[in-house]
Amino acid sequence: MRIVYDNEAQTGFKSDWGFSCMIEMGDRNILFDTGSSRDILAFNLQQVNVESDVFDTIVLSHEHGDHTGGLDAVLHPGMRVFVPSSFSSNFKRAVAQIAEVIDVALPQEIVPGVYTTGELGAWQKEQSLVLDTPNGMVVVTGCAHPGLETILGVAATFGGLYGVIGGFHSFDKLELLRELDLIVPCHCTAHKREILELYPEKTKRCGAGMVLELG
Ligand SMILES: [Zn+2]
Ligand SMILES: [Zn+2]
Repeated sequence: MRIVYDNEAQTGFKSDWGFSCMIEMGDRNILFDTGSSRDILAFNLQQVNVESDVFDTIVLSHEHGDHTGGLDAVLHPGMRVFVPSSFSSNFKRAVAQIAEVIDVALPQEIVPGVYTTGELGAWQKEQSLVLDTPNGMVVVTGCAHPGLETILGVAATFGGLYGVIGGFHSFDKLELLRELDLIVPCHCTAHKREILELYPEKTKRCGAGMVLELG
């Protein structure tokens, strides 16, 4: 997997408030979230020679502009776009002009080895991804508005957890991360510095351009 949009960036990539990462699973190319700006997403994809039409699947975590704003850069006919079913009908209608929109309410497998937690949370609904890797399940979050603890709880129903990557929002029960082997706090993680300091041997510093080999 590669981070292609984040509040921080590696040399050669643009940073901006938002999140997006690309996931290769077998022969499937998935983009999870799209950052805020189509131009910055397109720029960062260009830096790794990824054509904008390579993705067969897009998963949008929640309806906030810093996760959906770059969608136009990668939207093309024939792809499937998984959104929480609570997304506004205006948004879904616009995307459905070009691609197939699939509403997600419950936890389910969306492509082989990739699961969604389903729509979680009370006021701000959000879905996260769970990747089945040789090391165990890796959770990918957007902003984690429903609470990282809740997300990890649902993700664990798919199998033993290995790691978590993405925005952790205001999550502060940092001791709960102790059982994980890979922790990559990105985007809107309020306690990013504490997490990096607390678990130096299993954390990685997130940034656009970063590659994570998950097996
Ligand atoms: Zn966000
Ligand atoms: Zn958000």
